Amino acid sequence: MQIVKDTVVTLDFTLKDDSGSILDTTEGDQPLVYIHGSNNLIPGLERELEGKSSGDSFEITIPPTEGYGERDEKKVISVSKDMFPSDQPVSAGTSYESEDNEGNPITIKVVEVNDKEVKVDANHPLAGVNLHFAVAVKDIRDATSDELAHGHVHGPGGHEH
Ligand code: ZN
Repeated sequence: MQIVKDTVVTLDFTLKDDSGSILDTTEGDQPLVYIHGSNNLIPGLERELEGKSSGDSFEITIPPTEGYGERDEKKVISVSKDMFPSDQPVSAGTSYESEDNEGNPITIKVVEVNDKEVKVDANHPLAGVNLHFAVAVKDIRDATSDELAHGHVHGPGGHEH
């Protein structure tokens, strides 16, 4: 069986940056399980997986344009300190979960704090980063109609409901 649209793919991966530091890995953790062709992965990785078979492994370097995008300095903005909860101190390096204008989850990182304002960076943490993936395809199966309707995988590695 090959990876085509609407198959459920189980894979192991290790992601490194240009310096060889590991940014993310499934090693010692659950493998990644996703529905192919539903934009669940970054475009460059999903395209490379197309047509691969169970047991295949490969390495690929994905530029930011095919990954998490280039850094956008317009996403580094200063906001009033009032916008943050007053019951806990705001400090540089802290990250907050938020939403963009379309309601998608984003992470906002505090880069600088003064008396009145907080400078935050809403770029994806991996924006502007070359992504070096080592991938091993473990399993491929057809997605069920329920999974396609929900847009996510059910069972091991997916939603239990
Ligand atoms: Zn579901």
